[in-house]
Amino acid sequence: MIDRYAVIGNPVAHSQSPRIHAMFALALREDVEYGTILGRPGRFADDVKAFRQSGGRGLNVTVPFKLDAFELATQRSERATQAGAVNTLKFDRECVIGDNTDGAGLVRDIQENLGFDIAGKRVLLMGAGGAARGALLPLLAERPMRIAIANRTVTRAQALAARFEPHAAGVALSCGSYEDAGGPFDLVINATSASLSNVLPPLSPDVFAKGALAYDMVYGERARLFLAYSLANGAARAADGLGMLVEQAAESFFLWRGVRPVTLPVLAALRERDAEMTALNAR
Ligand code: NDP
Repeated sequence: MIDRYAVIGNPVAHSQSPRIHAMFALALREDVEYGTILGRPGRFADDVKAFRQSGGRGLNVTVPFKLDAFELATQRSERATQAGAVNTLKFDRECVIGDNTDGAGLVRDIQENLGFDIAGKRVLLMGAGGAARGALLPLLAERPMRIAIANRTVTRAQALAARFEPHAAGVALSCGSYEDAGGPFDLVINATSASLSNVLPPLSPDVFAKGALAYDMVYGERARLFLAYSLANGAARAADGLGMLVEQAAESFFLWRGVRPVTLPVLAALRERDAEMTALNAR
């Protein structure tokens, strides 16, 4: 039986994961099938069980099931434990292994694809939801000089800083409101969902240091407002989260299959398709 994988979410039809994994599998000549599952709220465990019974070997997990996946896992990686959420499940006989590849995907995109070295830099992390939480351990591991966490709901930023303080190991970790953030910063990461509503987080235009990289985890057209604002206010470069999406997928593929896909051609193919869609919509 062919090894089956899928992404489970709700909604899920818009997901790029089947396309990304199909390209990985083709390039690596891995004989796998990758589909989508529209998960049912409150029935996550049942949906996963049915998938396993039909030959499922692993799942990518997206909104709103990352906490359900965390609960379901019988073994968790350190980064999943620290993120408090699971985006990748691997089924190994009776064992359900839970991992979180989002943060590693972010760091890989920033360092490898964008060529930005995080070590010694001043980082502003905006947001304190699941994506920010998943990013913190991999970011700290790169030894920036400081990380300031800014969030609209300040108590959530404080809780995040308290959770990761034991892992800071010499990195100055601070938290607070957007006004408290200080700056300037060499790397400004938008880990909020503000771009999905086409609004900016309330950041000061002074946060960008000379040569700064602005990064929005949201990708495509919806990241445009934040990226344009960043470039207009002193950022030297701006990137959306498409590379993060591809890199977290590659990390999942590696966990499942033991081989690491080459990501840049896949990223280029997705960008090309994006450009075609934009041109089509502009007609
Ligand atoms: P959550 O819902 O867990 O958290 C949302 C965060 O955004 C909170 O900190 C919230 O602040 C903040 N926020 C929402 N609206 C605004 C606003 N108008 N102004 C300021 N802050 C706001 O979402 P996630 O953490 O899971 O995801 C965040 C984003 O990251 C999403 O847009 C998601 O698409 C993207 N993402 C991208 C990935 C990729 O591979 N590229 C992977 C994972 C996520 P508060 O606490 O005050 O409510």
